[in-house]
Amino acid sequence: MSSPFDICGQAALVTGANTGLGQAIALALAQAGADIAAVGRSAPDETLAAVRAAGRRGAWIEADLNRSDGLGAIVERAVAELGRVDILINNAGTIRRVDALDFSEEDWDAVLGINLKTAFFLAQAAARHWVAQARGGKIINIASMLSFQGGVRVASYTASKSGLLGITRLLANEWAARGINVNAIAPGYFATNNTQALREDAGRNAAILARIPADRWGEPGDLGGAAVFLASRAADYVHGAVLPVDGGWLAR
Ligand code: NAP
Repeated sequence: MSSPFDICGQAALVTGANTGLGQAIALALAQAGADIAAVGRSAPDETLAAVRAAGRRGAWIEADLNRSDGLGAIVERAVAELGRVDILINNAGTIRRVDALDFSEEDWDAVLGINLKTAFFLAQAAARHWVAQARGGKIINIASMLSFQGGVRVASYTASKSGLLGITRLLANEWAARGINVNAIAPGYFATNNTQALREDAGRNAAILARIPADRWGEPGDLGGAAVFLASRAADYVHGAVLPVDGGWLAR
């Protein structure tokens, strides 16, 4: 009997896997045995090299995820490249930092588009594929501390990540009986492009660090184990949950 965390022979579609948290998640899933379809607009060369070094297959599916048309084709292309899709990681996302008084409609739409609308319709495309095959699958949405808290100067990001947690629960309610697990991981403050501006602002950096019980920013590699767990058989009865990986931030 294999380990309940073994995902050998499965294939994962990971959005935004060229860098940051998506890259770390793709690598952790590959190390646990999965092939990787890296979906995004920037070539994920480094990620795919690491996936292949781990002995797994990898493919780049080029797509601008700010468009919600063509998301079904992404799932079909992943199946064509890797023979199957078992796991969807909705990771790609963006952020705009502007005072609410000055926040523009463009900054609202750009963030809601990829962080929430695309995540929902890609989940729908994956679920339609699984339902058509009369089988289940695993969907993991990358949420945020701002799925729980308000934040400042990030109106559209907070709206998107709060919405993503709501959608995670809704989809779990609708699809759990079909064997599709929909869950979320809520990263705390991680050192990636997404948080570069915060880390470069001495005041914000110190304030954030002071609140993290683990006393350090998260490194992308801190997130992989949570993704492997939620993607694996070990999480077959976990539905609509959100797993914070935050160095203790929410416990504070
Ligand atoms: P990142 O380094 O900025 O990575 C974001 C990823 O999303 C990149 O691969 C990026 O591709 C992709 N992306 C953005 N817009 C896209 C578009 N229109 N089409 C295709 N791909 C697009 O940030 P990260 O920190 O790894 O963020 C990954 C996820 O974690 C995001 O959902 C973020 O909100 C979430 N998160 C991050 C933190 C943190 O502390 N870092 C905390 C909580 C949640 P390009 O490289 O081509 O731009």
